[in-house]
Amino acid sequence: MSGWLVIAGLGPGADHLVTPEVTQALAQATDVIGYIPYVARVAARDGLRLHPSDNRVELDRSRHALELAAAGARVVVVSSGDPGVFAMAAAVFEAVEAGPPEWRALDIRVAPGITAMLAAAAQAGAPLGHDFCAINLSDNLKPWALIEKRLRLAVEADFAMAFYNPRSKSRPEGFEKTLRILNDACGDARPVIFARAVSTPDQHIRVVALPDATPDMADMRTMVIVGASNTRIIARDGAPIVYTPRSVGA
Ligand code: SAH
Repeated sequence: MSGWLVIAGLGPGADHLVTPEVTQALAQATDVIGYIPYVARVAARDGLRLHPSDNRVELDRSRHALELAAAGARVVVVSSGDPGVFAMAAAVFEAVEAGPPEWRALDIRVAPGITAMLAAAAQAGAPLGHDFCAINLSDNLKPWALIEKRLRLAVEADFAMAFYNPRSKSRPEGFEKTLRILNDACGDARPVIFARAVSTPDQHIRVVALPDATPDMADMRTMVIVGASNTRIIARDGAPIVYTPRSVGA
C-alpha cells in the first residue's frame, strides 16, 4: 500500500471545530506526528502509532513524517488551528525542498483547520470585517526589528491586526514593547480583544480600550486582536460586540 502525508489542522480546541476532512484522515492514519499537546488531542486506537515531540523541532519532525510516508505509512502531522498559519505545513515543505528528490513524488496534502484568529474574532463579533493583517509576535524565527517595522506599517495602513504568540515566559518584554508602539502609533482608544483559550473550557474574552491594555492580559494561549481606527463597540448587557464596518469612505 502506498503511503501518504496529510498536514492537518485540529482547530482551536473544541472537538466540534475539527473538520470532517481532518477526522477522516486521522481515522485512516497509521502514524500521527506533532507537538505533545496536539498529539494528545488525538484518540488512541489499535493500529495507530502516536509520535509526540517537543516544540521547536519542526524540521526533525517533518523529516520523520516524510521518511515514514516514503516507507508506506499513512501519516498525519497535526497542528493546532490551521497547519498553514505559523505551524507545520511550511516546515514540512521546507524539508521537502531541501530533501531527497523522491519526497517530491509523495502524496502530500494540507487539510485546513479553523485558525485561532477566526475563532477569536467570531467570539467577539466581527473585528476583521474590513482589511486586516496577522502578525506572529514571537521573535524566534525573525528579528524583533522586523516585527516592530510591521507593527508601525500595519497601523499606518489602518489594518485591524491579529497577533499570534503575543507573550511567552521566555520573552515577557516583547508584548510590553508592542503595546508601547501601538499606543504611540495609534494615539486613540480603539478596542483591543484578548481572547484566551478560545473554544476550550478555559475560554476567556476581554475587550479593553488600547490605552488600558496591559502586558499581563496576554499569555501564550491568547489571541490579541487590535481594531482599525474605525472598529466599533456595541455596548449591551453582557459581552459587548466588537465589529469593523465593511466599508471606509473616500
Ligand atoms: N496554527 C495555529 C497557530 C499556532 S501559533 C492556528 O492556526 O491557530 C500559537 C498561537 O496561536 C498561540 O500563542 C495563541 O496566540 C494562538 N492560539 C492557538 N490556539 C488558541 C486558542 N484556542 N485561543 C486563543 N489563541 C490561540
